[in-house]
Amino acid sequence: MPHPAFSVCVYCGSRPGSRPAYAALAQRLGRAIGQRGWQVVYGGGRAGLMGEVADAALSVGARVIGVIPDSLMRLEVGHAGLSELHVVRTMHERKQMMAEHADAFVAMPGGIGTFEELFEVWTWRHLNYHDRPIGLLDAEGYWAPMVGFLTRSCQEGFMDSGQLAMLSVDDEVERLLDTLFTRRGSPRSPMLDQI
Ligand code: AMP
Repeated sequence: MPHPAFSVCVYCGSRPGSRPAYAALAQRLGRAIGQRGWQVVYGGGRAGLMGEVADAALSVGARVIGVIPDSLMRLEVGHAGLSELHVVRTMHERKQMMAEHADAFVAMPGGIGTFEELFEVWTWRHLNYHDRPIGLLDAEGYWAPMVGFLTRSCQEGFMDSGQLAMLSVDDEVERLLDTLFTRRGSPRSPMLDQI
């Protein structure tokens, strides 16, 4: 059986942010994933940066999989034009399913939903539930204060540099995608279904 396309799970804002650079970055990411013949997995919404990533990937013929809980779907925020839209019961099912469909994770600028998804999948990686790479895609120095705080956490003895090194931070889309592909893990992470 041929190996399915490399699949990138994108976490990003359901809002566009206050600068045009964020939407531009989301469009570059969606297009770049699609132009590589890769697949996007994301939260299934059509608003904000989420919609920008999905639309850009679809515009170059990429397969885009959305996973959305029933409650958000009922608020009519689901994207109607995706290759697949899975409507699941709970947020937990959603995040697990997104992770199960992913070979790599990218967090773009976003708010609390994005933070939660990033920190959860990073914790799962640290605890060896999966071995897939995680990237932070930056624009306008958005992530810099958080990276500064994470460095402080290492200095203060609550994290170690190995944990921090699990995040690949970059502001250049193609370079980040190359890094994630180089750092890809095993085709099947045995413990994701045990979360
Ligand atoms: P936030 O960063 O708070 O805007 O939340 C965005 C992240 O949380 C996305 O990566 C989604 O997976 C999830 N999310 C939050 N709001 C929505 C929404 N209205 N529709 C779909 N997913 C959402």
